[in-house]
Amino acid sequence: MATGGAGDDMPYIMPPGDRRSHVSRHGRIGGVGTCDVDGCGKPVKVTDYDGRWCRGHADARDAERQAEDLRLTVKAGGPWPQTCPRRVGELGPWERGKGLDTWAIRDQMRTCSFCGSLHPADFMDLIEQGWVVGPTDKNYKVYLSGPAMRDQAKFYYQHLSGEQRARFVELSNNAALGIDPAMHIGDPGYFYVQPFFMRYEDA
Ligand SMILES: [Zn+2]
Ligand SMILES: [Zn+2]
Repeated sequence: MATGGAGDDMPYIMPPGDRRSHVSRHGRIGGVGTCDVDGCGKPVKVTDYDGRWCRGHADARDAERQAEDLRLTVKAGGPWPQTCPRRVGELGPWERGKGLDTWAIRDQMRTCSFCGSLHPADFMDLIEQGWVVGPTDKNYKVYLSGPAMRDQAKFYYQHLSGEQRARFVELSNNAALGIDPAMHIGDPGYFYVQPFFMRYEDA
């Protein structure tokens, strides 16, 4: 029988719009538990599927993950210099130079150091592998989800080359036409806000 931390029987109200299941394997999301690290026992709020960690142990875990990401990046030959198109294409309080950004492995994905986007080649590969493209109300970003719950990636369309944009549109059209290979588009099955480089034609 599982034992809960203090306040385990407190009522829990799911926040509006929260689409996660309100119970994780660590207890009720929003409920109170204790830090998972042996011998710690500090009370913590259960916020996600990632376990229960007090601030100190969460910081230590994050530092460990960053060190592991860096190790994997270097092992793969990175970090790889690049210029994020969002740095040079958007207004913001940052320097507009070339080669100031990198691709580096973060959470097992090549990720843009400036905007946090997945690498465009990896984005296209995962779409071809059947990862689900989740429509959003933004014309510049999209989320990909894979077979496991933790397989999630954010992508900013500005990172696509012209060729990749054309392939993206082709795969999306294949979905509408029922032709393989087709893009798997998440609920509602089409882009209610189209990517900025794409437009639906009137029938
Ligand atoms: Zn702790
Ligand atoms: Zn970027």
